Amino acid sequence: MGNFFEDDKLHEECGVFGIYSHNEDVALNTYWGLFALQHRGQESCGIAVADGQHMKIKKGMGLVTDVFKDGVGEMKGHVAIGHVRYSTTGFNMAFNTQPLKVYFDGGHLALSHNGSITNAGALRKELAAEGVIFQTTVDAEVVMSMLARSRKDTVEERFAEALNRIKGAFAILIMTSNKIIAARDPFGFRPLCIGKMETGGWCVASESCAFDLVGAELVRDVKPGEMVIIDSDDAEPRSMMWCNDMPQNTAHCIFEYVYFARNDSKIDNQDVYEARIQLGRELAKETADLNPDVIISAPDSGTPAAIGYSLESGIPFMEGLTKNRYVGRTFIQPTQKQRLNAVRLKLNPVRSVVAGKSVVIVDDSIVRGTTSGKVIKLLKDAGAREVHVCISSPPVTDSCYYGIDTSERKDLIATRCTIEEICQFIGADSLHYVSMEGMKRAISAINPNGLCCACFSAGYPDDADEVVKKEPTSLARN
Ligand code: SF4
Repeated sequence: MGNFFEDDKLHEECGVFGIYSHNEDVALNTYWGLFALQHRGQESCGIAVADGQHMKIKKGMGLVTDVFKDGVGEMKGHVAIGHVRYSTTGFNMAFNTQPLKVYFDGGHLALSHNGSITNAGALRKELAAEGVIFQTTVDAEVVMSMLARSRKDTVEERFAEALNRIKGAFAILIMTSNKIIAARDPFGFRPLCIGKMETGGWCVASESCAFDLVGAELVRDVKPGEMVIIDSDDAEPRSMMWCNDMPQNTAHCIFEYVYFARNDSKIDNQDVYEARIQLGRELAKETADLNPDVIISAPDSGTPAAIGYSLESGIPFMEGLTKNRYVGRTFIQPTQKQRLNAVRLKLNPVRSVVAGKSVVIVDDSIVRGTTSGKVIKLLKDAGAREVHVCISSPPVTDSCYYGIDTSERKDLIATRCTIEEICQFIGADSLHYVSMEGMKRAISAINPNGLCCACFSAGYPDDADEVVKKEPTSLARN
């Protein structure tokens, strides 16, 4: 029953959080930080805490509130890192939960990673041939292994040496007994930012929404190719550029703004909610010929763009679908006789909003096309006269190699079908996607050449597809 009700969305694969403070309960703050980042991964989570000498770790399968239902009281220290993880079926084993923890000649070491290391398979094979034993199928274990085997003097130098051998997308936190080192890949695919605690100390997180919950203020993003060392309550984190071969442009994941990140986050100086409002405005400009009676959204992820569409067009936005927020992943299987529409468990139309009306429904993406048709049928059954579907991203045609769980290319509906065919398949009166130019315009804080748009056939910013084709084993997911 598990996948029967999965949303037709791309999935972010991880979120990371770290904190250094002598004035705070660092484990508890990491718990809250992960709680705020739960949308980035729901399969497993973990927290590692150190006090200068010892390191404790607790992790498990499930949501943050489940894994830490007995609290974090026994985890004392002044430095902590945490991780939330989403994984594809088959890789969600308990041994892959993070943070990873090892003991090496430099002492204790814990690691949390968000992203996907595209040459992890080749490195793993090379290390295994030298006798290295692996305990997980997680990409980032190769980083730990290379760091532990390095002959450089400091942890920072060892980490930099390992980072210079890996390719792909990574926002990585490592923690020793008394410091956190945060690093971001040279393209800046996945987000990572630094916050200052009101009470002294520093934190680092995948998204700034985590800072609000722990009483921290966003200071800045970790730069692509930068390493930040946090080992003092007061002094600014130390910074070094670790990458020996910086690319010409960044490649920040545009889908963070379209869908993954929380509305209340700011990533690489771009306010996420503002970007979504602008995406809706761009859509409205590009579909000015439509003259609907009402704008509705596919809740909740389509709502900001629907509001933007309404603001631009002057046509009212109303809640045409009500979402049941208490639907879990499993429920009693409906009998054949009941002929229950599974989508109706989660979404139900508001008849008074849609009956007799021409409706524009705004959503952020169509991936496999498995749910859009059911939603349109619900709206038509509720009396909608016309249903026009407006999507605030271009058609998703290619797989992501940078830490996002995309379906296989053949399962992406826009790879197999034209827009007209998709429109027919989902039963819409018309279907419109925002243009690539419109999408880039909406993310106005970022240079359009500094965005990754590879899942919209815009070309991989590095040679990821070539690297992955050469992989000796299938990619382990983080
Ligand atoms: S391929 Fe798509 S989902 Fe992956 S990093 Fe690039 S924009 Fe984001």
